[in-house]
Amino acid sequence: METKKGLLGWYFNFNLLYRIMIGLILGAVIGMVLGTTIEGEALQGVLSWFSFFGNIFVRLLNMIMLPLIISTLIVGASSVSPAQLGKVGIRIFFFYLATSAFAIGIGLAMGGIFRPQAEIAALTEEIVREATRTSIFDILLNIIPTNIVASIVNVQVLPVIFFSLVFGLALSYLRMSGDARIKNTADMIYSFFEGIAEIVMKMIKGVMQYAPIGVLGLITGVFATSGPRVVGVLGTIVIACFVAYTIHVVLVYAIFLIKMYGKINVRRFIRDAKNPFITAFVTRSSNGTLPVTIQAAENLGVKKDVYSFSLPLGATINMDGAAIYLGVAATFIALTTWGHGFNPSQIGIIILTATLASIGSAGIPGAGAIMLLMVLEAINLPIQSGTVAAGAYAMILGIDALLDMGRTALNVTGDLVVTTVVAKKMKMVDLSKLEN
Ligand code: ASP
Repeated sequence: METKKGLLGWYFNFNLLYRIMIGLILGAVIGMVLGTTIEGEALQGVLSWFSFFGNIFVRLLNMIMLPLIISTLIVGASSVSPAQLGKVGIRIFFFYLATSAFAIGIGLAMGGIFRPQAEIAALTEEIVREATRTSIFDILLNIIPTNIVASIVNVQVLPVIFFSLVFGLALSYLRMSGDARIKNTADMIYSFFEGIAEIVMKMIKGVMQYAPIGVLGLITGVFATSGPRVVGVLGTIVIACFVAYTIHVVLVYAIFLIKMYGKINVRRFIRDAKNPFITAFVTRSSNGTLPVTIQAAENLGVKKDVYSFSLPLGATINMDGAAIYLGVAATFIALTTWGHGFNPSQIGIIILTATLASIGSAGIPGAGAIMLLMVLEAINLPIQSGTVAAGAYAMILGIDALLDMGRTALNVTGDLVVTTVVAKKMKMVDLSKLEN
């Protein structure tokens, strides 16, 4: 590695991951101290400084996200045969769904073991958001953009993925054309997007140098506002969620998928998975973390043909962490409202709606709390003003940032795990990178 000189040389020469970890720990400590010593406007005033530096990081990542998805997807889709793309796609889709369903199961089980429950009187004032009713047909139809520019402007990831895939596939056919003029034009367009993808990758490396400061800024706010609230039943919910997150990572990702199925060295995987894990943890956005996840897949040797579509797709539809959260949170609200948990048919409904809700929700901060509304609607526990359920929902919303950190880290790690193991199985990895 080249050594940087100058005023900030010490900063750039110090291992990036250690710098990020220091930012994380420092942010948590400062946040807890601030949150317990000052309050009200004074606290908000100090925190606005931290969130300013944190938001710079979030905005930089989001700035790169769409150009990266579009360019890598077009390059990826046009360098693989449609048949191969289909085979890989089906496997990835299967694992995304299977791991999510399993995750809801773990979430419900942890809810059942920890049994978080609160005493709330009806007619609480706090209220809350309305569940939007979207039918399965709408969710599927919305994947096809009617106006690609509008989809880009509104950062709708699934329609952008769909368009880029179709565009890339069409490009791959033109590149095989017998007509030299068409072939040349197609090759030129391919090189253009390949160039953009390379440039954007370079930008990510630069942005990551800012990560330690961004991490500190983001984490301080969360700990200052949510940290002191984590007492009593909310503490039990946090513990139930994080125990479930850990079980899922160890059992499903490390032991089953990476070690047994993918036959990949877990330590080797962790080496590159750490950056997206931490970035997701602090930004609470799978979409925002995409540039970092894509860079990790590249370092793990996964071919662009695979990760270019599986990671943006996963950021939107594969949310294992959110699934766990839904299981625990729904149990808490049911216990608080009804005094008992779920029957088998309700469990079936929860698994189904939670999976569908995660497909239809974007990977942005707080999305899980909206999914929870849909799940609760489906089991006849709607959040209406003044009800006990609404009070319980409002309580859990108060610490959503904390729960969201863990679930987003898991959402993103799940995408990277499935992508890497499927790519390895389908022989679409550069083994010299993955095995060194
Ligand atoms: N923040 C999560 C993500 O971006 C979604 C959620 O809230 O569960 O993946």
